[in-house]
Amino acid sequence: MEVSYMCMKRAGTSCLKVMKKNPYMKHSIKTPSTFVSHPSYTSYISTLSTPHNTPFISVFAKSCFSSSSSSVSDLPLKNSSEKTGSKVILKNMNYCELEKWVQSHGYRPGQALMLWKRLYGNNLWALCSDELEGLNKDFRKMLGELAAFKALSLKDVLTASDGTRKVWRSQILFKLEDGSVIETVVIPKSGRNTVCVSSQVGCGMNCQFCFTGRMGLMRNLTVAEIVEQAVFARRLLSSEIGSITNVVFMGMGEPLHNIDNVLKAASIMVDVQGLQFSPNKVTVSTSGLVPQLRRFLHESNCALAVSLNATTDEVRNWIMPINRKYNLALLLGTLREELRTKHKYKVLFEYVMLAGVNDSMDDAKRLVDLVQDIPCKVNLLTFNPHKGSPFKPTSEKKMIEFRNALAEAGCVVLLRPSRGDDQMAACGQLGKPGEIEAPRLRIPTQFQMVV
Ligand code: SF4
Repeated sequence: MEVSYMCMKRAGTSCLKVMKKNPYMKHSIKTPSTFVSHPSYTSYISTLSTPHNTPFISVFAKSCFSSSSSSVSDLPLKNSSEKTGSKVILKNMNYCELEKWVQSHGYRPGQALMLWKRLYGNNLWALCSDELEGLNKDFRKMLGELAAFKALSLKDVLTASDGTRKVWRSQILFKLEDGSVIETVVIPKSGRNTVCVSSQVGCGMNCQFCFTGRMGLMRNLTVAEIVEQAVFARRLLSSEIGSITNVVFMGMGEPLHNIDNVLKAASIMVDVQGLQFSPNKVTVSTSGLVPQLRRFLHESNCALAVSLNATTDEVRNWIMPINRKYNLALLLGTLREELRTKHKYKVLFEYVMLAGVNDSMDDAKRLVDLVQDIPCKVNLLTFNPHKGSPFKPTSEKKMIEFRNALAEAGCVVLLRPSRGDDQMAACGQLGKPGEIEAPRLRIPTQFQMVV
């Protein structure tokens, strides 16, 4: 990812290997002249062709690779195959595709609809052909032979107490076909149960406050792997906590770095014959990939959250290196322009408060100016400390002062307390970096005393 290349350029090292045989490497890359020196870190640079053919250069921690795939060229960074073995994965298809596939095997469109409803609707959430009661016997036999119902295997379910009631958040761990593990979090709240889904294995954005970012990027999740997280969450927990009404793409990964699959997964989630999530209750979050953000706003009616987290380019360049490619003026200018034509649409700005870094009253004033004329809400988040992180959370008193300053200036602002941090299931805490992690960026001089 280019952003990482920029980080490296800034930070200085000699420990890079350019993987010359990577089939995804379509653009010539100059070895950065400077990069952070990290004795145990072996980095690999490779370009990814994003759906918009934006060249990205990603840094992969060596530990991200399974023992059998020690080369970047083996990484399934392109979308995974539509098939598992000789079987077609049903949840990779939207309804039109499923209907065509069913018809191509000699069955009627009405039977495709019945299958769709058993996969996604009516509290059935079928995970094998034995769970297709009411479907024609031959049709079920064909499905049993040719179709795969599951893309994920359940590995574990962990719960976290919020200390006040026995309702918690649940962290669901899934094993993928290639052995990778991803995490999904369910956050129960009266009247609004939310499932937080992952869109990638790891993440290549390297936000400095984020635990997932420490992993580097392994691969994109397929449509089926994304959709099935919501299906599993409903199947596992609905009877206990009630209906799961909201989806947020805020788990592992940068959703818009996997935009094709995320757009398709979101469209399946809001299908009125299937999972029936309301589009304004499916929120896709981004660190600020501007071209993909523009495409998302054109092609989806789901909600958008932008992880902002800083009020100056200097701070954002450090804590969110994507800003070196798409800076604050470009990001916010694009939103201002795009939202002009979207009726009654508000973007949610996420702002993780980091003590001494982005939580001053000057930051509050700048934030008010930055979001002016953008229909929005601002969500102030408590930073959840994790092992090895240099950042500390802002005190509650200071968060309230910050919130009040924004509210007095006319912003719609929410203050969200942290929940789930006792199980590493809180925002920015998903995943498990290996021994070798993505590089830390150089701390600007004026912040060296506070982190
Ligand atoms: S905050 Fe989001 S985009 Fe940034 S590294 Fe973490 S998962 Fe990736």
